[in-house]
Amino acid sequence: MDNCLFCRIIKGEIPSSKVYEDEYVYAFKDINPAAPVHVLVVPKVHIDSLEGLNEENLQNVVHIHRGIKNVAKAMGINESGYRVIVNCGKNAGQTVFHLHYHVLGGIEMGEKIL
Ligand code: 5GP
Ligand code: ZN
Repeated sequence: MDNCLFCRIIKGEIPSSKVYEDEYVYAFKDINPAAPVHVLVVPKVHIDSLEGLNEENLQNVVHIHRGIKNVAKAMGINESGYRVIVNCGKNAGQTVFHLHYHVLGGIEMGEKIL
């Protein structure tokens, strides 16, 4: 996906503030943070959204969740807690069509989701 923004960030063609990386996932600070800690965790392979998951690429979900735990530890929010958000499609306001998990923390967000 040559002109996918997050594929280009993973390749290093566009700079990012890296928080964590392994064989399967890349994690970097959101450019427009919504909380003191706001990190995006993305699979290294291009998948459009949650709707792009299938039997062949489903293992990425496991890799992403392992990555999220490592990000939380690296950012020092594993004990205080954090929220994970995945926007999928138009009604959720997804703007970048490369699957990404928002990891938000460093502030008490309360019980309301919306
Ligand atoms: P979405 O709305 O698709 O769930 O989230 C996309 C996120 O990507 C937004 O929170 C936005 O701030 C972030 N974003 C967009 N462009 C860039 C960029 O070039 N670099 C970084 N680090 N984040 C970006
Ligand atoms: Zn991509």
